[in-house]
Amino acid sequence: MALIDKKDSPLFDLHSHSLHSDGILRPQAVVSRAKENGVTTLAITDHDSISGLAEARVAAAALDMQFINGIELSCLWDGVGVHVVGLNFDTGSDVLLAAIEEQGQARVARAAMIAERLARLGIADALAGAQEIAGIGAIGRPHFAQLLVNRGLVPNTSAAFKRYLGAGKPGDVKQLWPPVARAVEWINAAGGVAVLAHPEKYKMTRSKLRRLLTEFRAAGGQAMEVVSGRQAPDVTRSMAQLAAEFGLYASCGSDFHDPAQAWQDLGRFEPLPASCEPVWTCWA
Ligand code: AMP
Ligand code: MN
Ligand code: MN
Ligand code: MN
Repeated sequence: MALIDKKDSPLFDLHSHSLHSDGILRPQAVVSRAKENGVTTLAITDHDSISGLAEARVAAAALDMQFINGIELSCLWDGVGVHVVGLNFDTGSDVLLAAIEEQGQARVARAAMIAERLARLGIADALAGAQEIAGIGAIGRPHFAQLLVNRGLVPNTSAAFKRYLGAGKPGDVKQLWPPVARAVEWINAAGGVAVLAHPEKYKMTRSKLRRLLTEFRAAGGQAMEVVSGRQAPDVTRSMAQLAAEFGLYASCGSDFHDPAQAWQDLGRFEPLPASCEPVWTCWA
C-alpha cells in the first residue's frame, strides 16, 4: 500500500511567535521551519505586535506557502489574563494601528511595574536587563523570566513563572490590559476574525469559561482555539464541544516560540475533529 504523502495535505498553524514578541526566531526563520514541518498555511501571532508580518509574508511567498496576518492581544477579563488572537485582518487599519500603539505603551509601563515589584523582592535593576533580552520584541514576562534564569535565581523559565511571574505572583501585572470585548472590536474593525486563544490554559471552571465564551461571542468574537499545541484528546473533545455549543469556528495552532520547546513546535499538533467548522472557511 502506498503511503499517503503528508506533504500534499493542508496543514494550518494559526498561532506562532517570532522575536518581534517573545519568540526567538526571526519571522523568516519561523516561516522556513513551518515549511520544513509540513505547514501549508501559517499565521504569525506575536503578542500585541504586527511588526514581523511583512518579513514573514515575503518569506512565505518565496516558499509557496499561504500566510495569514495574525496578532495575539493581551486582555483582562474578570480578573483573568486572557488572550485574543486576530487573524486575516488589514494591517493598514487605523483602529488596529492605534490599538497596537496603546498595547505597546501598556507593555512598556507594565515592564516598569514588574521591575518595581521584583525590586521589592530584592531583585534589582531588572528593567534594563529584560529590555536587553527583549531587543526589538514587545517586552513581556518571558524576558524577565530569562533574566532571572541568566542571573541564576531560578533554574529555568518555568520556575521563574512559578515563583515570580505567573498568575497570582508579584510579577503578574495585568491591570493595564483592555477588556476582551475591546480587543474583539479592534480586530473586527480591521476586517479580521477574533479567536479566543487556548481557552483551556486559563484554568477556569467550565461555568466561568462559558461566561467568557458568551461575552466573547456577544462582542463579535467568531472562533476559538480547539487545538493548541500538543494536548490530551479529552481536552480536544471538550473544546470542540464548546465551539459547537457557542457556534464558534474552530482554530488550531502550535503557539510556537522556540525550537527547544518540542511540545509546541510548528505544525506538531493533532488535527481538528471532523465535527468542527474550521476558521479558515472564513477567508478561503
Ligand atoms: P506576557 O505577554 O508578558 O503576559 O507573557 C505571557 C507569555 O509568557 C505567554 O505567551 C507565554 O509565552 C509565556 N508564559 C506564560 N506562562 C508561562 C509559564 N508558566 N512558563 C513559561 N512561559 C510562560
Ligand atoms: Mn508567548
Ligand atoms: Mn497566549
Ligand atoms: Mn501565543
